[in-house]
Amino acid sequence: QRAEWAKLKDEKSVSADGKEFIVGANIGAPKDMQAVLDNGSEGVGLYRTEFLYMESDHLPTEDEQFEAYKAVVEQMGDKPVTVRTMDIGGDKHLDYWKLPEEENPFLGYRAIRISLDQTDIFRTQLRALIRASAFGNLWIMFPMIATLSEFRAARKIYLEEREKLEKAGVATGEVKLGIMIEIPAAAILADKFAKEVDFFSIGTNDLIAYTMAADRGNDRVAYLYQPYNPSILRLINTVISAAHKEGKFVAMCGEMAGDPVAVPLLVGMGLDEFSMSAPSVLQTRSLMKKLNTADMKVLAEKALDVETNDEVIELVKKATK
Ligand code: PEP
Ligand code: MG
Repeated sequence: QRAEWAKLKDEKSVSADGKEFIVGANIGAPKDMQAVLDNGSEGVGLYRTEFLYMESDHLPTEDEQFEAYKAVVEQMGDKPVTVRTMDIGGDKHLDYWKLPEEENPFLGYRAIRISLDQTDIFRTQLRALIRASAFGNLWIMFPMIATLSEFRAARKIYLEEREKLEKAGVATGEVKLGIMIEIPAAAILADKFAKEVDFFSIGTNDLIAYTMAADRGNDRVAYLYQPYNPSILRLINTVISAAHKEGKFVAMCGEMAGDPVAVPLLVGMGLDEFSMSAPSVLQTRSLMKKLNTADMKVLAEKALDVETNDEVIELVKKATK
């Protein structure tokens, strides 16, 4: 099977009836790029920049960040690279930058909430990103967005830094600005967000956890971590429809995007980009080639109307066997 998949390395990702999708890879650092290229990824759908902070013994400087972002976009050429501003907090800690101890870190001070509070650190990251945008096809997205005002505040800071750099004569490239959809509030209000963002990227790892109020890492409640629960599928479908209504692009960069049970459903819902760990890229491309979008649309509609995770698994099995 591996040999069959390898033949697809330089091919596009298309369904049986010829609809094109982007199958991309997730990375944490420039050193991950070899696997991205070896697996024929059509983009980097998620660059988790917090690793740059976690693997350093100091706050990464603007130049250090610029070099890391530039290295990645350059290697991808015209292909899109979606860089997520740092998602520190939750379970991710730094020795050199003490964040408050909290009772509920996953419901606390993390990601964009820190960036909008400690704006010097955020501005440094944005400047590095804007400078790197001159060297490839760079998109920026903000993690853990819950409200429109957070997105507007982040965009305002981005635009200010961009203007300063341009006035100083620094080279910049075109940038798309988007958000992670990983908090249910943002998914539910996706129609409003869709009017203002360039794209969405659905982060199912957190979206499932926050929707089911269950931590996958906790064995006692792991049974509640149900990616195909119709409640989750309805949220995802809401987000995709809302984006498309405004002509916006929708990606998914959570684990679900590379899951063979989820892919037929997501093809049916019309997801534009699937981003996953690099070793899953070719397997997903191979699966897509067997799927007919009209059939998958019927499958997705059925899945949205059943009651349980298990029923959805059965439906997918029947439709794809
Ligand atoms: C997600 O929440 O699905 C996601 C991609 O972000 P992370 O796994 O980095 O939290
Ligand atoms: Mg997340």
